[in-house]
Amino acid sequence: MKPKQLKAVQLRRLRKIVDYAYRNVAMIKKRFDEAGVKPSSIKTLDDVSKIPFTVKTDLRDNYPLGLLAIPQNRLYELHASSGTTGKPIVVAYTRGDLNCWGRLMGRSFDVAGVRKGDVVQNMYGYGLFTGGLGFHYGAKAVGATVVPTSTGNTKRQLMLMKDLRTTVAACTPSYMVYLCEASRAEGYEPKRDFVLRVGLFGAEPWSEEARKRIEEVFGLRAHDIYGMSELYGPGVGVECDQRNGLHIWGDEFLVETIAPDTGEVLEPGKEGELVFTMLSREAMPLLRYRTRDLSRVFEEECACGRCHPRIQRIKGRSDDMLIVGGVNVFPSQVEHVLMNIQGLGDQYQIIVTRTDLDRLAVKVETTADRLNDPKLVKLINSDLLAVLGINADVELVELGSLPRSEVGKARRVVDLRPKG
Ligand SMILES: [Zn+2]
Repeated sequence: MKPKQLKAVQLRRLRKIVDYAYRNVAMIKKRFDEAGVKPSSIKTLDDVSKIPFTVKTDLRDNYPLGLLAIPQNRLYELHASSGTTGKPIVVAYTRGDLNCWGRLMGRSFDVAGVRKGDVVQNMYGYGLFTGGLGFHYGAKAVGATVVPTSTGNTKRQLMLMKDLRTTVAACTPSYMVYLCEASRAEGYEPKRDFVLRVGLFGAEPWSEEARKRIEEVFGLRAHDIYGMSELYGPGVGVECDQRNGLHIWGDEFLVETIAPDTGEVLEPGKEGELVFTMLSREAMPLLRYRTRDLSRVFEEECACGRCHPRIQRIKGRSDDMLIVGGVNVFPSQVEHVLMNIQGLGDQYQIIVTRTDLDRLAVKVETTADRLNDPKLVKLINSDLLAVLGINADVELVELGSLPRSEVGKARRVVDLRPKG
């Protein structure tokens, strides 16, 4: 499709979904009415800016199914976010939604080069979390063989990876980084013992250096994949061969960037918060959903020939951003620095404390002979200062001493400051 054709599809679908959501979801109708907007006000794609935002707390406040646009007996599947505090967010799918999600995941697998005959080891958690089943549906959509190992039990993961001749690894990037080290600790020589070809890693921000590390150790090609439970799950976008941003499936998602503080729509190429409108969702239509993820949108055609717009890899979720003594710090920036320094292990932890002033401490693993190397500490400190603009207390710790990401997402940040 040419960009012009895609835009025509988007406009047609946008007008239809706005009308549908207005008629069937009480909260959306109320918001439109309060803002003095009618579905008929949406005449061009730019008119999307007239639509009121939806935010995460709207989903929480309407727990469990207050945003349904259909009778409950038409639901085909339900998922829920992890809900670390309070009630989770429930996401609902009709049969059509589920087919759509599976198709988008299938496309994402296809773009990453996964084919019939591939063996996909799905190390995402199966259950309410959308990761497990999302990747499962995607693997099925391209006709690959799926091995649903789910998270954890690293020894068994590695054994099956070797014995079943897994060609595609799907898991969080932090778990794959962990496997770099764990596979050797278990006596494997990754490039000799495994036949991994492709990796699909998402659900948390990761750095270019983590990609290099994974690719060097396993000899695979690593693709970033983007999504979130609120937007079906994984499969909203994926990196093509060019790996110069992630293609967002434009026929199903209208993507914008806004200034997080004012809500003002930004020009393509400017960094801001990603906002998505789902163009054909039946069970729970979401209009202008604010993700808290910071990125940029590129509309220029990609060398791969696809017309779908691209976003830059996610630097961090604005919720993950730490403000340390007035300076914005993303954990991915710390990772970027550490992975560029020779002699460090893959695991690190960021600790923020406050006595009078905020302090940032970084613990990173290294080999026993370098634990007391003042030069190494100084190098890490100066590199962090160069990238973050603040001084960090650097501590070298023994290999294996920091907590590992065995299940799901890594918990690399410990914020010990008093809340509020
Ligand atoms: Zn491309």
